[in-house]
Amino acid sequence: MSVCKTGAEHIKSLKDGRTVYIDGKVVPDVTEHPAFRNSIRSSAALYDFQAQPENLELMTFIPDGSNRRISRAWQMPRNYDEMVLRRKALQTWAAQHYGFMGRSPDHLASALVGQRMGIEVFRKHGEDRAKALAGYFDYISRNDLFLTYVIINPQAERAKDWGQQDEDLVARIVDEDSSGMTIRGAKMLGTSSIMANEVFIANLQPLKPGEEALAFSCALPMNAKGLRVLSRKSYEASAVSVFDNPISSRFDENDALMYFEDVKVPWDRVFVHRDTDMCRAQFHDTPGHAYQNYQAQIRLSVKVKFLVGLARRLTESIGTVKMPPVAEQLGYLAAQVSMVEAMLSGMEASGNKLGEWWVPNKHMMYSAQVITQELYPRLINLIRELAGGALIMLPSSVDDFADPGLKKIIGKTQRSSVMTPEEKVKFLKAAWDAVGSEFGSRHTQYEMFYAGAQFVTRSHSFRTFDWNSATGMVDKLLSTYDLDGVRH
Ligand SMILES: Cc1cc2nc3c(=O)[nH]c(=O)nc-3n(C[C@H](O)[C@H](O)[C@H](O)COP(=O)(O)OP(=O)(O)OC[C@H]3O[C@@H](n4cnc5c(N)ncnc54)[C@H](O)[C@@H]3O)c2cc1C
Repeated sequence: MSVCKTGAEHIKSLKDGRTVYIDGKVVPDVTEHPAFRNSIRSSAALYDFQAQPENLELMTFIPDGSNRRISRAWQMPRNYDEMVLRRKALQTWAAQHYGFMGRSPDHLASALVGQRMGIEVFRKHGEDRAKALAGYFDYISRNDLFLTYVIINPQAERAKDWGQQDEDLVARIVDEDSSGMTIRGAKMLGTSSIMANEVFIANLQPLKPGEEALAFSCALPMNAKGLRVLSRKSYEASAVSVFDNPISSRFDENDALMYFEDVKVPWDRVFVHRDTDMCRAQFHDTPGHAYQNYQAQIRLSVKVKFLVGLARRLTESIGTVKMPPVAEQLGYLAAQVSMVEAMLSGMEASGNKLGEWWVPNKHMMYSAQVITQELYPRLINLIRELAGGALIMLPSSVDDFADPGLKKIIGKTQRSSVMTPEEKVKFLKAAWDAVGSEFGSRHTQYEMFYAGAQFVTRSHSFRTFDWNSATGMVDKLLSTYDLDGVRH
């Protein structure tokens, strides 16, 4: 057995008979299907990367009582230094996919690290539920499994309560017996589910008393009987070639609707049971929500750096880089990247202890979320603005280079002082894939919504800010004078 999980092991684990649909058909083997195979290989490459001898120390650790290394994503930091060590591993992983795999294995690992740190919250809910969570954490972490989650309900009638939606829309408990509970209905939007081993199911949106059938959390293997995974359109499948679509052809993590058709969940995989407030507490009274979104900011720090690198190369390729207004735009973009990095450093350095664990500063994390979900579309827009028509005036596909006549015209028209025509086309196609293609556009939607709509992230910021210290200053000022003038 290798010193830690490898890519080959991961690919093999996905040949498990899961029920995935695309284009009206069931996929016999996701690892071989043209809609998913390259992205699955990119996810497997993460495990191969950490298994390389020179990366073992940076990327992995040995959990107590084990003899096999696992990703540092599963490590529960006890102090600031351990948190930084863990972050460096996560950043290095994100750099392997340029930040384009939002739900890489470290996302759920982070969510569950946070929930495991808050095991006392589960104990208050029930000793059996706490035992289930702790046991599950040991199982998935020691096997370095890839998890995804579905914690949001499908939109239908947003003006109605979740419990009032039409039957079978929102996943709910429909039966229970001594071996477990049965769930029926849907959840969205299982990003990476097709390349994951297990799915964590929960309810993050507020529930009301009376909606107890919807109030559960649990985990299932992706091949659970009755679990139907409805993939969205695959950008990997519609990619023309690696040269034409270097990012979408390899890093399309996919998103899928999950439909639970009377799926049985054993009790040792049930973490929240018929408790509407515990659905909230599992994320917010434990550091779960803080840790999962801290991971998202770590990944984003890599992605925005990549995008700003792209902006710089873009302006070099069309010869605008030295124009003062363009340099000014690049300076602005660079400042945004450093802001994301600074916010990351801030939430780590001003974190706090929860028992023996170190937790990132919650309000700083929510501030970063609020700011970056607005920043991303702005950043994309600015890059497009810097590009003009260069992103569009491109050969239809790599095949145009095969025709000597067309190749000659491409050579004459794709001019750049810093790139050959072929290099310029190669670069501009990568840029379009990232910022303008259907894949690029999905990424804008992802960054705007993966952590909730703006009214949600802003409400977290409102809830967690130290208002007393802010209003206290105002009150202090007001206390220094009155109608009679300054008070002494
Ligand atoms: C690409 C992508 C990948 C995703 N991956 C996952 C995943 O892996 N797992 C998962 O669980 N979820 C995932 N999601 C779902 C994501 O978490 C939700 O989209 C997000 O929480 C927003 O919820 P919603 O889509 O129901 O939008 P809504 O909450 O319905 O908001 C949509 C818009 O409606 C308006 N609105 C709705 N309600 C209100 C209100 N009360 N007050 C004011 N305005 C309101 C606002 O304009 C808001 O922007 C993904 C989403 C996307 C786009």
